[in-house]
Amino acid sequence: MTSEGHKEEAMKALIEEIASCTRCPLHATRKNPVPGEGSLDAPLMLIGEAPGRWEDEKGRPFVGAAGKLLDSLLASIGLKREEVFIANVLKCRPPGNRDPRPDEIEACTPFLDRQIRIIRPKVIATLGRHSTSYIFSKAGLAFKRISDVRGSVLKARVLDIEVWIVPTYHPASALYNPGVKDILRSDFETIGRVVRGALGGEEALGERRPRRRTLEEFMG
Ligand code: URA
Repeated sequence: MTSEGHKEEAMKALIEEIASCTRCPLHATRKNPVPGEGSLDAPLMLIGEAPGRWEDEKGRPFVGAAGKLLDSLLASIGLKREEVFIANVLKCRPPGNRDPRPDEIEACTPFLDRQIRIIRPKVIATLGRHSTSYIFSKAGLAFKRISDVRGSVLKARVLDIEVWIVPTYHPASALYNPGVKDILRSDFETIGRVVRGALGGEEALGERRPRRRTLEEFMG
């Protein structure tokens, strides 16, 4: 997967498949599938859990209250939604926003895998335990609790792609527990540093970096 045209074609085909998917029962209760959105050349891919009420209404990821917070966290590190790719583990809303079930994750994640292969991000930020657990399993990493791993920076191979993984809490958790907001801000600073470091001396999202930074600089 190299050229932009190929990426667009592959993502378009994927979106069509998601729209007609009947692999799990969620297709029967959702209003709209939420395939994800953003730049197909995004250096940063953010992976949430599943669409909620507003996402189900609009067919777009993170457009409710958690999405507002996500937008502000991205802005705090100089990124716009259009410069990253935002996806979810599940593409359809679980009724009442219940947790994704293992059979739904198994049925739906081949779509996420294909998105990762199309975009080939340099950095994956996992938002919450479901997405962290899934990406850690793809990377062969052990996962127990999100509180143990959040804010860490891990170099891993996911689907044969070398990526940096930065797990953090789901933005929705800050809506119920205001203390989590500061942790999210700090973890997003880490995400910003890792993205800038991964882009090295290349044009970093509109801003030219004067020189290539060393691994130690962006880890420290
Ligand atoms: N929560 C998620 O995990 N994803 C969304 O798209 C919205 C809320």
